Amino acid sequence: MAASAQRMPAVFFGHGSPMNTLEHNRYTEAWRRLGESLPKPKAILAISAHWYTRGTAVTAMERPRTIHDFGGFPKELYAVRYPAPGDLALAARVRNLLAPVDVRLDEEWGLDHGTWSVLAHAFPEADVPVVQLSLDATQPARFHYALAARLAPLRDEGVLIVGSGNVVHNLGRIQWTDNAPPYDWAVRFNDKVRDLLTMRNHAALIAFETLGADARLSVPTPDHYLPLLYVVAQQGQGEAVSFPVDGIEYGAVGMLAIAVGLQSK
Ligand code: ZN
Repeated sequence: MAASAQRMPAVFFGHGSPMNTLEHNRYTEAWRRLGESLPKPKAILAISAHWYTRGTAVTAMERPRTIHDFGGFPKELYAVRYPAPGDLALAARVRNLLAPVDVRLDEEWGLDHGTWSVLAHAFPEADVPVVQLSLDATQPARFHYALAARLAPLRDEGVLIVGSGNVVHNLGRIQWTDNAPPYDWAVRFNDKVRDLLTMRNHAALIAFETLGADARLSVPTPDHYLPLLYVVAQQGQGEAVSFPVDGIEYGAVGMLAIAVGLQSK
């Protein structure tokens, strides 16, 4: 891959309900506008909360399938296809960048809804190749941050690094009604993460488990938080961070989106 003059931003999406794929709301509108404001990527490397594995893997197939990794949703959602091509060269490049961590070249997975529910709005043409990198569930937050930092050269090669999860994600506390008021702890933790990003306090974001009761309620399991660290690790000294959209749905699902290095044009 040739180096491009422009350094790609990195983006974290709070994906929320898979139904966002089919809906048009203030989150999906923000995702669409964000996609339009980004330089067109040569490829996307997506880190989704929904590919949580033992060891690290990268998708390595020409035609990744669209995985409907959820239950109990309307049939229209199962009919959604996101036919973006894969990128074998990018998969190999990721494997090289992350050595000596052994990254398995995966031919089984594809694109899960953490990835396609947001890309369907941000890149509706599905014409940018997409590769997914899995989250090693056996590793602590600092491992993920360190791994993510080694992906930074991809930004100079035209690759958009995308994290997809939710800063606040407590399924046990969800209230399945529209306009459910957010829990106080969810608001406080969401604000805390925004402040830490603005101050570029990466150490505190990595050590989220030490941030008290609000953090424990907001991040009861790390799967939806860890993709955030892959974007946090891209934030260089003095590099701008912006928040394309924010909000808390169902009381306990944070929809905060984060862009690092996005120049307004
Ligand atoms: Zn999810």
